[in-house]
Amino acid sequence: MSKASINNRQGFIPHSRPTLGREEQQNAVQVIETGMICQGEMVERFEKKFAEKCGTAHAVCVNSGTSALHLSLLAMGAKADDEIIIPSYVCTALLNAVSYIGAVPVVVDIDPATLNIDPDHVKKSITSRTKAVIAPHMFGLPADMSALLESGIPVIEDCAQAVGGTIDEKPVGTAGHLAIFSFYATKVMTTGEGGMVVSDSRELIDGVRDLREYDEKGDFKIRYNYKMTDVQAAIGLSQLEKLDGFIAKRRSIADAYYKAFETFNIVLPPRDTGHIFFRYVLSMDGDPERIIRELLAKGIGSARPVYKPLHRYFSSNGCPNADTAWDRSLSLPIYPSLSQEDAERVADVFADVYNHNNK
Ligand SMILES: *Cc1c(COP(=O)(O)O)cnc(C)c1O
Repeated sequence: MSKASINNRQGFIPHSRPTLGREEQQNAVQVIETGMICQGEMVERFEKKFAEKCGTAHAVCVNSGTSALHLSLLAMGAKADDEIIIPSYVCTALLNAVSYIGAVPVVVDIDPATLNIDPDHVKKSITSRTKAVIAPHMFGLPADMSALLESGIPVIEDCAQAVGGTIDEKPVGTAGHLAIFSFYATKVMTTGEGGMVVSDSRELIDGVRDLREYDEKGDFKIRYNYKMTDVQAAIGLSQLEKLDGFIAKRRSIADAYYKAFETFNIVLPPRDTGHIFFRYVLSMDGDPERIIRELLAKGIGSARPVYKPLHRYFSSNGCPNADTAWDRSLSLPIYPSLSQEDAERVADVFADVYNHNNK
């Protein structure tokens, strides 16, 4: 069965799904009716509102989180043969962005308690060629930014999974030199595909803005076509208005899961007031693949939270914590359009499958 047809099965609870409503529809239709659907006024408005929400001076829309990373690296002056430090336990978008500019990805391990990049491993990996660290807030849990900034190496905050999250009550995206976001379909808020770069630095943001588009430039250098369309921005504006509600809903589903699994011999996500629960990631004994298959047979989608740790693409074995996380972690459905009833069904079915596997 194809993924789409599985997701549409009656009563099936997918692992992940966007939450869209009439507001997004109406906003998108209004843009189409103007006849001007490319990057324009809506994109500008989305940038302004998004910067306000983050508490940063500036924001630039782009067409994906990957593009946001790529342009951030270029705007910081990163180039071929520079070293960029990234964690192993994350998607390949980071590896791609670093590779686009010919830089060297230095893959480091994670903190097993948070599943975020390990600041000590980062410090040990710094050389005279280190240009930047990319620090994702994995699964919506903010990384330890103050420890990462201590080294003095510029940090790109990867907020692709953590929009609306906070560190000491300040929004994520304000601690690093630059921050990026993704609005892919199943991220916390969506424009279908899309991304954003935010920063307080006018210079860095001007750099990103210049590289995002190629037309009407006085000089020639390599520039990109990474623009967002006004139709996407119109959808993004509606999603942004709903963001606080989305996060409240995610947290309430997380509360239900914490309660349901309290007595189980599994490691639950860290309780942190800044966590927005993009994913609810469990860590347990037993083969996640098998649990995933059994949940699927009972109508529940679940997944390994990371497809494959990055160091394994290089047959390297220097990231034991990422290996352990991959061996033990499972992500359960959590999104605003998941009803409390469905969340309870997920918890019940998971409990069944778990107990059956741990008899
Ligand atoms: C999704 C994601 C990206 C890439 O975003 P795209 O919009 O898919 O290009 C980068 N970093 C992290 C942590 C992500 O989860």
